[in-house]
Order: sequence, then structure tokens, then C-alpha cells
Amino acid sequence: MTKLKTLIFFLSIALMFGAISAGVGNAQTSNNIQTFAEDFHSYANPQAVSVTNVDLDWNVLFDQKMIKGTATLSVARNSIDKTAPLVLDTRDLKIEKAETSVDGKTFKKTTFKLGAADKFLGTPLTVQLPPDAKFVRIAYATSPTASGLQWLAPEQTAGKKMPFMFSQAQAIHARSFIPLQDSPQIRVTYSARVRTPKNLLAVMSAEGNSQNSARGGDYKFKMTRPIPPYLIAIAVGDLQFQSLGRRTGVYTEPSMIEKSAFELADTEKMVEATEKIYGAYRWGRYDLLVLPPSFPFGGMENPLLTFATPTILAGDKSLVSLVAHELAHSWSGNLVTNATWRDFWLNEGFTTYLERRIIEAVYGVNRREMEAVLGRRSLEQELFGMETRDQILHVDLKGRDPDEGFTGVPYEKGALFLRHLEETVGREKFDKFVREYFDNFAFQSITTETFVDYLNKNLIAQNPQISLTDVSEWIEKAGLPKNAPQPQSDAFAKVEAQTSRWLKNEITASGIAAKDWTTQEWLHFLTKLPANIGAERMLELDKTFSLTKSGNSEIAFQWLLMGIKNDYAAADSRLEEFLTTIGRRKFVKPLYEELAKTSAGKKRADTIYAKARAGYHPITRASVDTILKREASR
Ligand SMILES: [Zn+2]
Repeated sequence: MTKLKTLIFFLSIALMFGAISAGVGNAQTSNNIQTFAEDFHSYANPQAVSVTNVDLDWNVLFDQKMIKGTATLSVARNSIDKTAPLVLDTRDLKIEKAETSVDGKTFKKTTFKLGAADKFLGTPLTVQLPPDAKFVRIAYATSPTASGLQWLAPEQTAGKKMPFMFSQAQAIHARSFIPLQDSPQIRVTYSARVRTPKNLLAVMSAEGNSQNSARGGDYKFKMTRPIPPYLIAIAVGDLQFQSLGRRTGVYTEPSMIEKSAFELADTEKMVEATEKIYGAYRWGRYDLLVLPPSFPFGGMENPLLTFATPTILAGDKSLVSLVAHELAHSWSGNLVTNATWRDFWLNEGFTTYLERRIIEAVYGVNRREMEAVLGRRSLEQELFGMETRDQILHVDLKGRDPDEGFTGVPYEKGALFLRHLEETVGREKFDKFVREYFDNFAFQSITTETFVDYLNKNLIAQNPQISLTDVSEWIEKAGLPKNAPQPQSDAFAKVEAQTSRWLKNEITASGIAAKDWTTQEWLHFLTKLPANIGAERMLELDKTFSLTKSGNSEIAFQWLLMGIKNDYAAADSRLEEFLTTIGRRKFVKPLYEELAKTSAGKKRADTIYAKARAGYHPITRASVDTILKREASR
């Protein structure tokens, strides 16, 4: 169904029933019956029984690479059928026992059944539920290869003395460490008691994180606001805290605390800037956790505690747009959440748009435009050669791993769409719309259809210069619409002028006035150079600017990518070092892809991967396994 047809269908249903509030496909109560969108990535049956709270009691066992304990789920029956069982999502969990309770105190054993395992979805767990049961307690253990957990040996950490463990639940990995209804439209509160080795500190995406870093091996946490399950997160390691502001701070290993605090010094300012445009920050504290380098993503917006890659520690705050991004998720994503993974662009498009607005507020419009130009360019490069079905914001991920939806499309195309709306109606009106959108759907999970309906009523109706056809093209069609905004940067124009003089041999590399270039100008310079620039030209640049030695992860990545394309042997050992120390998928994936394009490169990739694989997160491994055609082993 195209968007227009969906909308007509949707409106006619609405007319049939007299009125609609905010939402078909939106998990909310009307006449005491909750409606849920169809989620192809969950076995759960929330329309019959839904989970509302998760209470965890965990032992974190480093020697066995295992979490062992119980999850007590509060359940609510949503249908008149009082015999329906509870269906949960699991992956590679060892279920020991299931019990139910009416009062949460006395539990009775019940029967349960694990279904057949699906390679993407895991295994459904069906628990028999007496009609009056309000609680279900599952005793279980995780697998040492749980897709949502990474266990690091001491040598894989910065301090090299103590082990480390962290979780990454998005998109559907929470089920590999908690039996639960793992769909983003099923919001839960949670609490946890976590036992760890005495000398390690546990932190979670909840209240209860210790600021004085007091150790004891027994920690308690509570998340009082309803969140989607993919935001439940834990890390355990040799962690220390440093305050950054009134309600902001950073946790990391002691040897990285100073560097992290310096890099993240503007965090409090960012929270204030965001509140000014989009309304109050509703979560209490905003802390960051800087992880060891194997963390597969740039950042993960776990509420109250963003998880971040150490690759943003450039030493000059030039890569902190990542903090702006993760912070923005406190509004777009965590407060208003995609109901299913095909609506992922609602999380990431809004967040990328907000990220640029925060950067503008804190660092100025020039920096914003530079990042927007780079964002659009990387999207265009990615779209070239991408299957058309994946170029669509409202992407169809049925039968696929939702991690395949993590492309530049939901992020950059989504952000361009929102910028297009802003440019069409004007900033003042658009800011008001977005702020009211966050208020209206706060702590709810919504579908693309619900968003379009809201947009239609609250922006398009008053601004006929936007048409539904236009909106439908943006959301339901492949590629970039002709009216897509074209960000412009004067600073980049200057970089281009010099680049062209150098390429025409009018100046040598030392004549390029790069002394005061920001990271963004460097990235513009490198990504605009001809792909086949040749090893000789690269050598000239390297002699002048020491690019192979760059400690800035973004610059090093671009340079190493060029090195592979141009057989630049002088960067070979740096490439191997980079790939065996950093596990961030954004960098690792394109480098292996580029290597795999030639048979000699493929051989090199296999050799490097043999050394690197053990240190990568399961999510990064899954990606590289596919590129190098290795048997996937989740
Ligand atoms: Zn994001």
C-alpha cells in the first residue's frame, strides 16, 4: 500500500467509527482495549496480555560470561479471553522455571514452552497464565554468546586489569538477556538488583547510579518512566564518575576520565539549549558512559545514561555532535518512540534533525551547515547502489533482521525531510509543531501512520504549501525528492577552491592552507578528492599532514578508506591497527567492504579479521561475517 492509500484507508476507518484520537497502531487505551501495531520482529501477544513492569534480580558471572537470575514481569490482560497465555521473546536463554502470582509475594509453578528458534527473531516462550495472575517470574540464564551482551577480558579494556561487560539491546537484542515482550510499542518501567564482583561498579539506564563510585558488588536501580525494552541497559566494569554540570556527568574507566570530561564539557550547555527549543528534559539526570573501543555504535541513547564510543575523544570537541545526537533522543526516540522497526526513521530522522539544531545553538550555524553538507553527501554516496526498498523511510523489514534498517536513510533522509518542512513553513511554526508533537505523544510509541495523521492535522491543514503528495513521496518512495534541502557551507567552498588548485598542480600540498581546518573541513577535503587519486598524491599529503598517524577517528577512517582504494601501502599497518582496536561498525563495515572488492584485498581482510573478530561486539561480527561470507555465528 502506498502512503496515500494507507491514509485514505485510515481516514475512512476513522469516519466509520466516528472519531479517532491520536491513533490507530498506537499503543493506547480506548474503551479499555489497547491497540497495538503489527510488529514483525516480536512474538509477543500484547493485544491479549501485556507486560507493564520488569523487575530483575541478576548475578553477573564474569567467569561464565553469563547473567543468571530472575525476571519478574507484571502483566495485564487486555482481552476478554481470560485464558490466553503470555508470549515472550527470548534468544538463546536457558529457562529454568516459570511461576505466577496474584499478589507478587506467593508464587506457584506454571508450565512453559519454548518454540522453534528463528535466526532473526529468536525463540518464543509461551507461559501458561491462570486467569487472575498478575505476576510472572522466570528463572533463567543467558548464553555466553548472547547477542546483546559483550564480555571483555581485562586486556580489552583501557585499564587492562579488570573485566568489563556491557549490553546493547537495540534493535531486538534485549531478548537475549531478558525474557520479555521485545517490541518498542510495549513500554515498561523496570527495577533491578544486580550482584557483581565486589571491585566492579554496575551502572544502568535508570536511577541509582553511584556518583561516588562506591563499590560493594550489590546495586539497586529503578526506572520509573515507561520505556521501550530496547532502552534497558547495563554496564559493569572498573568505572569512575566525574561531574560535568548540575545534572550531567560522565562514567568511564579511570584512565579515560580526564580526557572524557574535557571532551564532554559542553554537555550541560547542550541540555539547556535543547530545552529552550523543545521543552523540559524529563528524565532527571543526563550522564554519559564512555565505553571501551569495541562498542559497536557511536552512541546508544540509553535513558539517563548514554553509552558512547571512545572514538569521539578527538581531543578538540570536534566530534561531540554524537553527544548532541544521543541527547536529542531524550525527546525523539525515548520520549516519543517508533512503534515498530519500520518506523525507525521517526526516532533517527527527528534525532538527526534535532542534533543539528543543538549544534547550531551551541557551536553556531557554520558548524551546523558543515555537518549537514557532510551528512547529505554520505547519504548520496550510500544511496548509490543501495536497493530501492531500503531507500524508503517507511522501510519494509518483514522477514529481515531489523539491524539491516540501520542505514543513512532513516537518519539523513529523515533529517532532510524535517528540514524541508521547516524551510517550507518557517522555523517558528515548525519548532512549535515539533514541541507540541513531543508533548502530545510523550511516553508513547507511535507508527508512521499516526505521525502522518498528526502532521496532517497540525501542520499541513494550516499550511497548504505542504501537500500530502509531497509528504507521501518523502516517506514512501525511494531516493531523494527533488525538493530536498541543499545545505551550503562557505568554509567548504574555500576548501574546494584550494583542493582544485592542488589537483591542477598550481600549488603543492604544503601550499594548502589547512593549518586551522576543523575536523569537518578535513572530512570535506578528503571525501571530495577523486576516488582514484593515486598513491603518489596520497604520499604527498601524508608527508605534509601526517594523515596516516591521525588520532581523529573520523579523519583516520576516511584516510584508510582512500588507502585501500589507491593501494597506498604506507597506511597498511595503520589499517590493521585500526581494525584490530576499534569495533565501531560505522568504521569497520565500510573498510572490510572496500577490502573485499578485490581478491588480494579479500585475503588481507580475512587475515586481519581472524585477529580482530574476537574483540568485536556480536553485532559488528554479524555484519563483517556477512561481508566476508563467513558462517554467521551469533
Ligand atoms: Zn540515533
